[in-house]
Amino acid sequence: MRAVCPGSFDPITHGHVDIITRAAELFDEVIVAVGRNSAKNYLFDTDERVELAAAAVAGVAGVRVEVLSGLLVDFCRDRGAGVVVKGLRFASDFDFELQMAHINGSLTGLETVLLPASAKWGTLSSTMIREVASLGGDVSAFVPALVAQRIDEKKRDNSNG
Ligand code: ADP
Repeated sequence: MRAVCPGSFDPITHGHVDIITRAAELFDEVIVAVGRNSAKNYLFDTDERVELAAAAVAGVAGVRVEVLSGLLVDFCRDRGAGVVVKGLRFASDFDFELQMAHINGSLTGLETVLLPASAKWGTLSSTMIREVASLGGDVSAFVPALVAQRIDEKKRDNSNG
C-alpha cells in the first residue's frame, strides 16, 4: 500500500523524519507531500522545502518527495495512495487531525493513520524552529544537517545585508 505524509515542512525536522521513517516501515511506498500554501509566511520557499525534505529522507528506502498543490484527497487519488500518515504530538494535534480525517474520509474514503510522536521529538515543531532560528538560536540538534546549514546561511545573508 502507498501512503502520503503531508505537511508544510518549513523546515523538515527530526520529528518529521521520525514519522516518515516509521511510515516507510509500515507501508510499501511513502510520498512526502510538501504543501504549497500561499497564505502561509514561509521561512523556506517551496523548492527549498522540497530539496531539504528530499535530502533528509534520501537514506530511507521507498520514500519520495513531491509538491502538494490543491486538495490532499485529489493528490492521493491521482497517485493511488489510500492512506495518509500524520504524527500526533499533543491534544491540539488530535483535535485538528480528527477533523481532517473525517472530512477526507467523507470526500473520497481516504484513510488516516495517526502515529504517536516519538518521546524524543514529541513537542518539536517547525514553528519553534523558525522562532528560535529567527532570534539567532542554534537549532542544529533538532533538524537534519543540511537544514541547519541553510538556516546559518540565511542568518549570514541577513546580517550582511
Ligand atoms: P508543524 O506542525 O511542525 O508546522 P507540519 O505542518 O509540516 O509541521 O506537519 C506535518 C505533519 O508532521 C503533521 O502531521 C504533524 O503532526 C507532524 N509533525 C510535525 N512535527 C512532528 C514531531 N516533532 N513529531 C511527530 N510528528 C510531527
